[in-house]
Amino acid sequence: MGIKIIKRNGKSLKDKLYIFAIAGGMRTTLRHFLRNIKDNSNLITMQYPEVQPSDITPRYRGVHRLTKRDDGSEKCVACYMCATACPAGCIEIEATQRDDGQDEKRPKIFNIDLLECVYCGYCVEACPCDAIRMDTGIFSFTADKREDFVLDKNTLLSHTRKKEFGND
Ligand code: SF4
Ligand code: SF4
Repeated sequence: MGIKIIKRNGKSLKDKLYIFAIAGGMRTTLRHFLRNIKDNSNLITMQYPEVQPSDITPRYRGVHRLTKRDDGSEKCVACYMCATACPAGCIEIEATQRDDGQDEKRPKIFNIDLLECVYCGYCVEACPCDAIRMDTGIFSFTADKREDFVLDKNTLLSHTRKKEFGND
């Protein structure tokens, strides 16, 4: 069986000095630097957070929201389908009876822990009432306490669909 000997590079004095490789890299960096000083319209980096991305598509899964009925109450009927489908187990629901005469339940507690959420969208897919969506366009959520990452029902109801994604 023939054996193919591959020549190993990097053993010459020129390779070991690294100077030529470093100079080659610096030449490329300098070329981009000078080109971008003259015209920065082709820069692919964004000065985030001062500059926010404008190309978020409607299919983007952002922070959740709970949708509302025409009377302003939540559409959610506390069926637990979303919590059952959630692979992260980060949805906490406690059901209670509705007090508006409708023969349905409503969530007394509806919490989502964003620190555990993996933004898979299974909760949205599982909901039979279109009561939960991820079309807020909120892609960056910051807080300085762990508890603040747990969104409660009122916060989720206060979120709205991102304007560019259309109307409800
Ligand atoms: S997006 Fe996925 S992980 Fe997050 S709450 Fe929904 S089902 Fe759970
Ligand atoms: S959001 Fe939808 S799936 Fe989750 S409990 Fe409410 S109605 Fe059920």
